[in-house]
Amino acid sequence: MKADLEKLIDLQKTDTNIRRLKKSIETAEDRRASIEQEFEQHAFSIREIQGNRDRLHAERAELEKQIAENKTYLERADRNLKHAQNQKEYETAMRETDAIQKQIAAFETQIIEKMTGIEEVEKELESRADEINTLDGKRDEALAAFDKEIDAARIELAGEDKKRNEVFVTLPAQLASVYNRMAQRSRDGIAVAEVVNGSCSACFMSLRPQMQVEVKRGDQIITCESCTRILYIASMESKAAVTDA
Ligand SMILES: [Zn+2]
Repeated sequence: MKADLEKLIDLQKTDTNIRRLKKSIETAEDRRASIEQEFEQHAFSIREIQGNRDRLHAERAELEKQIAENKTYLERADRNLKHAQNQKEYETAMRETDAIQKQIAAFETQIIEKMTGIEEVEKELESRADEINTLDGKRDEALAAFDKEIDAARIELAGEDKKRNEVFVTLPAQLASVYNRMAQRSRDGIAVAEVVNGSCSACFMSLRPQMQVEVKRGDQIITCESCTRILYIASMESKAAVTDA
């Protein structure tokens, strides 16, 4: 019976690890997507700033074009002014010259604003240059590390599945079915629970002293009176071994 209990404890540890590995593999796609999303957020914010810079440059170029156009209008207005035949023509040309000059001055003010904006954006891009230059590399690195971790989990799972089957077939049929039924019934998959500080570690019910003695003896299968899980108390030797590992 002692050997069977040890097999059950071993089986439980393997099954708990199998659950962990399966969960890790099942959620891998979502977790990978969230890594990608995190990097995408950085890339998006960088693209946004670069977009701002490009927009400001384009707006500045457009203003330069407007100024150049207005300067040709101004030349024409100046000519009209020089060739004014009478007071009325003179005043009209004068007003036109004035308006164009004001327009040019307004565009020039806007150009200065755009240049200030460009300077700020360039400064921000400069301060994030490291991040920008390493972002793709870091993303690939993080995804490669994640894929490697999942590959390792798949390999470990295959090994644990094999180990489980090997232990399972050596159990007496009745015990094996009790174990399976309990493992499938409980939400956490725990069929074999350690007794910690006199209580079942699965449901936290404290054990009667007599039961503790029986569990400690380990020569028969004792189940928790509250949750019906198979109970065991880790011996000092195996506890030390776990701590050393
Ligand atoms: Zn219990």
